Amino acid sequence: MASPVHTERHGKVAVVEIDHAPHNALSHQVRVALLAALREALGDSGVHAVVLAGAGRGFIAGSDMAELAAPEAAPGLAALCDLLDGAAKPVVAALHGACLGEGLDLAIACHGRVMAPDATAGLPEARIGMVSGGLARLVRLAGATAALDIATSGRSLAADEAIKLGLADEVATDWRQQAIARAAALAEAGHWPVTSKLDLPVIDRAAFDTAARAIARRARGAVAPVAVVEALGWALDLPFAEADAKTRGRAAELRGGPQSTALLHIMHADRAAARAPADAGAAWPIKHVGVIGGGTMGSGIALSLLEAGYQVTILETSLTAAAGAEARIRAVHARHYGAGRLTQAAMESRLRRLAYTYRYERMADADMVIEAVYENMEAKQEVFRALSTHTKRDCILASNTSALDINRLADVVEAPERVVGLHFFSPAHVMRLLEIVRADRTAPEVIATALAIAGRMRKQPVISGVCDGFIGNRILARWWGQCDYALEDGAFPEEVDAAIEGYGFAMGPYAVADLAGLDIAAAGRKRTAPTRDPRARDVPIIDWLVEQGRYGQKTGAGWYRHDGGRRAVDPLVHQLVERASSAKGITRRPIAAEEIQARALAAMVNEAAKILAEGIAQRPSDIDVVLVHGYGFPAWRGGPMHAADQVGLKTILETVRRMGNDGPDFAPAPLLVELADSGRSFASLNR
Ligand code: NAD
Repeated sequence: MASPVHTERHGKVAVVEIDHAPHNALSHQVRVALLAALREALGDSGVHAVVLAGAGRGFIAGSDMAELAAPEAAPGLAALCDLLDGAAKPVVAALHGACLGEGLDLAIACHGRVMAPDATAGLPEARIGMVSGGLARLVRLAGATAALDIATSGRSLAADEAIKLGLADEVATDWRQQAIARAAALAEAGHWPVTSKLDLPVIDRAAFDTAARAIARRARGAVAPVAVVEALGWALDLPFAEADAKTRGRAAELRGGPQSTALLHIMHADRAAARAPADAGAAWPIKHVGVIGGGTMGSGIALSLLEAGYQVTILETSLTAAAGAEARIRAVHARHYGAGRLTQAAMESRLRRLAYTYRYERMADADMVIEAVYENMEAKQEVFRALSTHTKRDCILASNTSALDINRLADVVEAPERVVGLHFFSPAHVMRLLEIVRADRTAPEVIATALAIAGRMRKQPVISGVCDGFIGNRILARWWGQCDYALEDGAFPEEVDAAIEGYGFAMGPYAVADLAGLDIAAAGRKRTAPTRDPRARDVPIIDWLVEQGRYGQKTGAGWYRHDGGRRAVDPLVHQLVERASSAKGITRRPIAAEEIQARALAAMVNEAAKILAEGIAQRPSDIDVVLVHGYGFPAWRGGPMHAADQVGLKTILETVRRMGNDGPDFAPAPLLVELADSGRSFASLNR
C-alpha cells in the first residue's frame, strides 16, 4: 500500500506531506508513516529545516473517527509532538483547508505556522466528549481565555482570527512557499521558538476563573468542558511537561468513554437522518418560496430561507399584519448586523429578496409555499384551497403544523402528492431541527426536495410519518405526562424541574411551560378534552393556574412567581398540587430525583418504541436526533434510545410496567417488550 506520507526536497528544506484522502485524518497508519518521515528528515544532514504540509483539500481535519472507540495505538500523537518539540532543526507547518483537532495539536508543536487564506483552525474534541491533548501548548500561544473559548466551543477559527490569537505567524496566498522560506530563515538564524518553552502569558486569573466556572456550570453533566477547564488550570499552574502529561492522560480517559460514545452516536445519527431514503428521487429546483402567515414561526422560517439564499414572499391577512412580520424580520437583521454577525451587504441582499403581500396571486410563480397560520385545521385547509387555485401544479405545499394531520390538508388540493409537513421549531431561524412529515401521498421527489432545502438552510432534517404530534411532540407528551403524575404522587414543580435539569436538560418542564405560556397549552387541553380517553390519568393543575390568570412569565406568575427574571417557588402552587393529590385520594410521598428521571425516560422510550413499530420514525437513532436537537435532551447521553440501551431495556420495561394505572397511553409497547425479552437493543435496529 502506498505510504500516506511523502517527502520532497526544496534545496535544504524537506517538505513532509501527509497525503491521506479524503481529509488527511491522523490515523494510526499516518502517525507511523509521519514519525518515520520526520525522523528521516531530521536525521538527514543535508536537510536544514522541515515543512509539514497536507496534500489535497487541507492540512489535517482531525482524528480518524473509526479509531476513536479504542485507545490510541502507539505511536501516539504525543510522541510526534515531543519529536517536533525537541528537534534539532526547525519545523514549520504549512496550513490550508481544515487544521482541526489533532491537526492543530501537531501544528502548534511546530516552530512556526503559515496559513493559507482559506485555512481554518479549531479543537472540536469537546463536541465529541473528548479533550485535546495540546492544551498546555495552546495556552502558551493564545492565552488562557482564548484557549478556554476555542477548546470548549469547538468552533473553527478563520485564518485572520487564528493569527490575531497567536495560533499562527502569517497568512499567505502562497502559504507553502512562504513556509519553506520561513523554515529556511529559522535554520539560518540558528534558533526558533519552541512552544512548550514559551513563557506563560500574563493572565487575569480572576477573569479566567469566572469564565471557567460559568463553563463548568453550563456543562450540565457534560464531562468534556469540565476537563478543558481542569486541563487549562494545570497548564497555568504546573510546569509544561507535567501539565502536558496530565492533559494527555485525561484525553486518553475520555476517549472511548460513555459520553464520547454517545456524542459520536449523535454525530452518526445526524448523518443517517439527513440521508435521502432509497426511493427519494431527484430534488426539484427551488428558487422562490412563499410563507403564509408571518407570525412567530413564519418570520423565523422566512429568516432561515433568506439566509439560505432563497427569494421569499410572505403572505399575511392584511398589509398591517404584514408590517408586523416586516418589523420582526428587520429587528433580527438589525441585531445580527449590530453584533457584527452580518455585513451590511448581506443584510441588504436578504432584504431585497423579501416581499410582502396579502394577495394569493403573488404565489403564482412560487416553487414552494410553507404555511404557518394558526394551529387550526379549518384555517389551514382554507389556505391550502387558495394555494391549490393560485400556485403551479408542481409547487410544493408545506405546512408547519405542530400536530395536525397533513393528509387532511392534502385532501383539499389538486395534486396532493406535493403536500408535505415541514415542522420547524421555535425560534425557527435558530433551532436546527426540522421534522419533514411524509403524508400518505407525498411524492418521493418532494421528500428529496425537503431534504435539499433543509441542507441549504443548515437544518438537521428527520423524516417522520403522520401522527398526532409527529415524532417529537408525541414523545414529549408522554414525558410531560409522567412529570405531571410525579406532582400528584408527591413532588413539587421545582423538584421535578431540578430532577430533569439534573439529568442534563437546560430547563425542566415547568420552567419551560412558564416561558412558553400556559394559556396556549391549556387551550389545547380544552380542545382535546372531549376526545380524551376517560381511562387516561389527567392532571388538571394547569387549568387551575390559567383560571387564576397565571399564564407564566408574561403575567409574572405560572408554575412559579417571576420577579425580575428570577423564578421563585410559590406556596399557592404547592397548595394546588396538594389539592390535585387529595382530589384523587393519593397519599403524597417523597419522590426522589432518580425516580422522576427514570419515569420520564421510560415514558419517552415506550412511546418511541410505538412510533418505531408504526413506521412513523425510520430508525431509533432518528428519534435521538429529534430529542437532542429539538427538545434539549442532553447530547452527551446520546438521546433517549441510546440512553435506554445503556440503562438496559429490561430496567426500562420494569419502569413502564409500574405505570400501569396511568392509562392506556402508558401500556408497554410490544416492540419494547420484544427487545427486552430477547436481550436486544434499540441500536440493533439502526440502519
Ligand atoms: P402566530 O400566531 O405567531 O402567527 C400566525 C400568523 O398567521 C399571524 O401573523 C396571522 O396574522 C397569520 N395568519 C392567520 N391566518 C392567516 C391567513 N389565512 N392567511 C395569512 N396569514 C394568516 O403563530 P405561530 O406561533 O407562528 O404558529 C404558526 C404555526 O406554526 C402553527 O401551526 C403552530 O402550531 C406552528 N408551530 C408553532 C411553534 C411555536 O413554538 N410557536 C412551533 C412549531 C410549529
